[in-house]
Amino acid sequence: MKVPFLNLKAQYDAIADEVQQSIGEVMANCAFSGGPYVEKFEEEFAAFCGSRYAAGVGSGTEALWLVLLGLGIGAGDEVITVPNSFIATAEAITLCGATPVFVDIDQKSYTMDPALLENAITTRTKAVIPVHLYGQTADMDPILAIADRHGLAVIEDACQAHGAEYKGRRAGSLGHAACFSFYPGKNLGAYGEAGGVVTADEQLARRIRMLRDHGQSRKYYHNVIGMNGRMDGIQGAVLSVKLKYLEGWNARRRDHAQWYRKNLSGITAVKTPQEMDYARHVYHVFAVRTSNREQMKEALHASGIECGVHYPVPIHLQEAYSASGKAPGSFPFAECCAAELLSLPMFPELTEHQIQYICQEVRRISDAP
Ligand SMILES: *Cc1c(COP(=O)(O)O)cnc(C)c1O
Repeated sequence: MKVPFLNLKAQYDAIADEVQQSIGEVMANCAFSGGPYVEKFEEEFAAFCGSRYAAGVGSGTEALWLVLLGLGIGAGDEVITVPNSFIATAEAITLCGATPVFVDIDQKSYTMDPALLENAITTRTKAVIPVHLYGQTADMDPILAIADRHGLAVIEDACQAHGAEYKGRRAGSLGHAACFSFYPGKNLGAYGEAGGVVTADEQLARRIRMLRDHGQSRKYYHNVIGMNGRMDGIQGAVLSVKLKYLEGWNARRRDHAQWYRKNLSGITAVKTPQEMDYARHVYHVFAVRTSNREQMKEALHASGIECGVHYPVPIHLQEAYSASGKAPGSFPFAECCAAELLSLPMFPELTEHQIQYICQEVRRISDAP
């Protein structure tokens, strides 16, 4: 049996008529850049997150960058985040001229360990970016309390957490602002590149809308230096269609996680992810922990099962961040995740039969001498 890691085609086939009609409308109205389809999606997505404002932008990376710029963060400032994320989290900090400062993660949730946060704060610290990794939110209450005490902004990296919840509240409504990616493979994916910022802060929302549009408040009157960070009209229209299905898709992902747990139970060499008491996990990624990850990955590949690794090298050990001067051993839990986590196939259209097959193969490989 062949099981892909992702299957975007299956999802497209299920909604093709609706998507094609919505794209046709954008074309007929020539609403290519920003415009009414993006505005409609912004309203819907802000409401979905339980927040006030959303600004559609070009990508998740750009969303992070624009929020930092919008908060006035730049050269000489420090922003605290985690080393076990996609590199974009740190890149956005670096691109606005600030310095990323890493803290290690909690071993159970794989998200920022609030107990380590305070020690990393200096007089230069301006913001904290917890990452809602794999679809589970960070433990936000203690992070927000510490940030509040030190006057720091909290920016959620919610690029993997569309629809995730923390104590009944949605990702996107937890920090001062939240950044989403609508990269095609994310839980809510566009048909191209797209991202979004969500915030309840009206002034920040206005500033980000200005920054994404060359810093202009009206055409050709530029108040601040911005950039072209607009979302395509087509992506706004596609995302509006897909947003209606997101809760159903996330529910399927949660069902799959349950099936995985049930079928992998008792395999001591494989540790399934933990859903924290505070969380409603939306399983963007279903990562299991195993000490012989590479061997398991290759053996599963030989059985027709495609897996992923998120991420093989923590950010502080990437060549691009060699100047950070952090040696191996600096963040032991993040480094352990990089060495041991294996992402099993996870997408809404996966079947119980496929999951049974994957688990049967994991068990067979684990039992092999
Ligand atoms: C995908 C992702 C990003 C970047 O989003 P893009 O849309 O690819 O620019 C940032 N942070 C995390 C945690 C992500 O998973």
